[in-house]
Amino acid sequence: MTGDQEAVDRARHAFTDTFGGQPAGVWAAPGRVNVIGEHTDYNGGFVLPIALPHTTRAAVTRRTDGRVAFASLQGEDAVVELGLDELAPGRPDDWAGYPAGVVWALRERLDGGLSVLVDSDVPVGAGLSSSAALTCSVALALRDLVAPELGPADLVELARRAENDFVGAPTGILDQSASVLCADGHALFLDTRDRTSQQVPLDLRSAGLALLVVDSGVTHEHAGGGYGDRRQECEEAARRLGVDFLREVEDVDRLAALADGTPEGQVLMRRARHIVTENARVLEVVAALRDGDDPRRIGPILTAGHESLRDDFEISVPLLDAIVESAVGAGAHGARMVGGGFGGSAIALVDTGAVDAVTAAVGTRFEREGQPAPRTFVTVPSDGARRLA
Ligand code: ADP
Ligand code: MG
Repeated sequence: MTGDQEAVDRARHAFTDTFGGQPAGVWAAPGRVNVIGEHTDYNGGFVLPIALPHTTRAAVTRRTDGRVAFASLQGEDAVVELGLDELAPGRPDDWAGYPAGVVWALRERLDGGLSVLVDSDVPVGAGLSSSAALTCSVALALRDLVAPELGPADLVELARRAENDFVGAPTGILDQSASVLCADGHALFLDTRDRTSQQVPLDLRSAGLALLVVDSGVTHEHAGGGYGDRRQECEEAARRLGVDFLREVEDVDRLAALADGTPEGQVLMRRARHIVTENARVLEVVAALRDGDDPRRIGPILTAGHESLRDDFEISVPLLDAIVESAVGAGAHGARMVGGGFGGSAIALVDTGAVDAVTAAVGTRFEREGQPAPRTFVTVPSDGARRLA
């Protein structure tokens, strides 16, 4: 991750090189990892993310010619530029749709247009929510520039709508909430049904712990079916159980009603069982952390979460299973895949003194599987979106 001053200088220079002049400011929003609570967000359930120290920075200024322009140091070379009045859901249809979706929602305040330069060290497409880091950094910039009345919940909603309605990516509310609301040294306990949230102390540093993030290198595609299929299966299971959201089911025994003797019913039962048991795992982790228990205690709950994603929800892939297995085998207190599934990253809860050994064990396992060494980094709970300059 880049230091704040360094990040500001880099974004400013790139902005000037690209657009000329100076940006009005530089805003940052982090990526996230979800400690526990996977695929619960669109089921009205609980999640427990932390913000990464890795951020996306947006250097932004208003224009006077009625045009909007987007450039990214991580994107293709070209600047994406169009008239403010040409923006529409699906247009632009590339990466610039993410920031454009935020701009579009506030277009009535922005008649002169806007220039946006983004720079990021959040790994893209690794399940660490680079997309929310992008939309939230721009949302925060626009709040400061043209919409001072927007509170944190409004920013979350603005960023969510940009992703869901403008880009057409069917994410829940988790990513944007984490990027906006998380706080250093804490996990964010979020109830996605009523969107209330609480900060739960998770001071890994003092406990001599860290989260090791391992990017499997297998790229996931939200658009590529699997994620949408799971959402539909969850909706269907809820419908058959007569509830609005699977969150309302607390007792796994109720799920027996789904197993109607058909293969489909059996699948729906397992999908729903993941959601019901995952919500219980979030509550268990939160209770342990609130009681001031040693955070090592949550390790086995994370591993149980992985097994549920692998066996009941069926969204893991062999390399993610290999990361979890080798990390736990080398002394991690627990590990699990994170994010939408079918690729992306895994996390392992590791004593700081054991990070090297666990990283090496995962590397050896990848070698044996004939895979290039995975990208890894160590993280602790960090701050949410903020203005840097
Ligand atoms: P994730 O959010 O897990 O990283 P997504 O598929 O939701 O994965 O979002 C990744 C997409 O977000 C990229 O394909 C790109 O379109 C866009 N994106 C994210 N960060 C950047 C960036 N710094 N520059 C350009 N595009 C970005
Ligand atoms: Mg995303």
